[in-house]
Amino acid sequence: MLGSVLTVGMALRLDGRALSKQLEQRLHQLINSSQDRIGRPPGLALMRIGDDPASGVYVANKEKACARVGLLSKGLHLPSETPPNEVLAELQRFNADPTVDGILLQLPLPANLDEGPLLGAIDPEKDADGLHTLNLGRLLKGESGPRSCTPAGVMALLRSNGIDPSGKRAVVVGRSILVGQPMALMLQAANATVTVAHSRTNDLAAHTREAEILVVAAGRPEMIGAEHVRPGAAVVDVGIHRRPEGGLCGDVRADEVEPIAGALSPVPGGVGPMTVTMLLVNTVVAWCRRHGIEHGLDDLVV
Ligand code: NAP
Repeated sequence: MLGSVLTVGMALRLDGRALSKQLEQRLHQLINSSQDRIGRPPGLALMRIGDDPASGVYVANKEKACARVGLLSKGLHLPSETPPNEVLAELQRFNADPTVDGILLQLPLPANLDEGPLLGAIDPEKDADGLHTLNLGRLLKGESGPRSCTPAGVMALLRSNGIDPSGKRAVVVGRSILVGQPMALMLQAANATVTVAHSRTNDLAAHTREAEILVVAAGRPEMIGAEHVRPGAAVVDVGIHRRPEGGLCGDVRADEVEPIAGALSPVPGGVGPMTVTMLLVNTVVAWCRRHGIEHGLDDLVV
């Protein structure tokens, strides 16, 4: 168990790729051992609308992860001009499909579609991304339900590396519904004392330097540097950006922060793989719950 502030020097690598592999094996075993009783594998519907190239890559990665673990993925790719009532009809078809346990609507949507009503039309029990209003409310109230995948992945990454948020000062940079808000709620539920910073926060560094756990989800390439980090802090970089010159970077200047932090998640290979894995976890948990099967994944269900 690591102390309240980690050791300074060489930051522990919060390796999401390695943890994802381990978790995929657990899911694979669970599916293998329960599939005969249930009579079918877990099913995940992946709906993509339009031709955003990044979304295409993300959905393809999710389909590959399903295949590795033994989930049946059902892809549906609709043209960007699809009217909202047709998207709704497709979502309702997945809601009614007994072989579908999880539904994912890949974001962002084309400009003609409003994500609120569409996310709200997904059966909350099949809400693989944990973004339905009911499930965000359940998180707020500490009730069980599918959790937002990225922050749930961050929690698993922290815990599996022996970083217990209880009693620690945590700062989350970003307050989106997708990442920042549910992240803050999960850290608070784990008994951290949480500050949420955003684009109107004055003197951001004064806040982030207090953090024993710093989660950065601002969507600003390499905005967090050495001046923002408390020595020994655990730093989780949620951001992911394509550099103009090629390659990927996060919201953190990893070369500066790595020598100061106690732990740091890499980009790529940190939070990204965990997001995909938590999507599978949500779907497998829903499959087990629907069939009254013990899933044994309580350590991942935050
Ligand atoms: P978002 O909806 O754009 O939200 C960004 C948040 O950061 C907002 O709350 C914004 O504040 C805040 N912010 C922006 N500039 C800031 C600044 N200079 N100082 C402090 N706060 C600032 O983005 P998101 O969907 O949460 O995603 C954040 C990043 O994570 C993106 O890079 C995204 O690509 C990445 N992401 C990665 C994964 C993954 O699996 N690795 C998953 C999801 C997202 P205001 O509210 O005041 O505007």
